[in-house]
Amino acid sequence: MKEGELKPEEDLLLASMPDEVRELRNDWPSQTESVENLTRELEQEFRFGQQITKTDRGYLMGGTLQGGSSSMWYPATQQQYHAYKRWRNIEGLYESRDDEAYCDLQRLLDKHDIQLATHRTCSPRSRKRSDAFPHPGYGQIYAHMLSILPQLPKAHLSRETLKRIQLGGWGPDAAKASAYKKSEAAVLMYDFAVGGARRTFIGLFLHELGHAHETALSESECNVLHQAYQVLIEEDAFFGVEFLLDPDTRKLYQKFVFVEFLAETYMIYASCGAGLRARIKKLAEPARGAWEQVYASFKESFGGMEYE
Ligand SMILES: [Zn+2]
Repeated sequence: MKEGELKPEEDLLLASMPDEVRELRNDWPSQTESVENLTRELEQEFRFGQQITKTDRGYLMGGTLQGGSSSMWYPATQQQYHAYKRWRNIEGLYESRDDEAYCDLQRLLDKHDIQLATHRTCSPRSRKRSDAFPHPGYGQIYAHMLSILPQLPKAHLSRETLKRIQLGGWGPDAAKASAYKKSEAAVLMYDFAVGGARRTFIGLFLHELGHAHETALSESECNVLHQAYQVLIEEDAFFGVEFLLDPDTRKLYQKFVFVEFLAETYMIYASCGAGLRARIKKLAEPARGAWEQVYASFKESFGGMEYE
């Protein structure tokens, strides 16, 4: 190789996630300045899955959090309704078709033997039944998945711990946003996650894919990571990314459950890239050494792939 030439693997292995994923490394900016009548409280409600709809009884605010027909709806004003619609245009996911994205996604998932299923029914009786065909109105989500999945190592898609991705439906308890079901090798993104903020969906989606990843790690890989994890607990040196709960709550979550730390680190590794490397560099020992170990282990289980 000639001097000054880029090593081919450096070129190939620095992957780049789409902008909406890379945004996770930054704070979640408030839209109250740019959206008329959007208060901080309303914004929090919308980010947490509350919606405002226009009915013949006037404007009502409520959400999927409580579950379908049993959910609580409160009267809202026309101004709040307009603020909701403007907020949703900027940050939210909403029903729309993108048949091209759907077909391309389906092709990609078929190649890796992953089943795509949607649940559109709202009664608890039918919660276990999948739609006959994936719901066409999840166009935005199909497009996001299609831009994220090819940026992951192929080996992460073709494996026994990831056989199914479900969009919509209810969790075992109403407050659940998403889950990974080990017995079915399934990533489940419930109604809450597919109807709220785009950032919430993306963070949760990568977190649940992280469970498919940690489940596939070997015992020796887990042991190395667990040693570093114990240092991170001692030093309270977890990283918090805001996408559903605030960063401190997400840090606490990792501190108490090892596999949650692994799943969250998967999301952080893939979305924060250079941002994560910079944060590790700023840490003092021994937290820095422990994070360097975690980073190196993840890099290895990503087949050497790192993110921009
Ligand atoms: Zn989790």
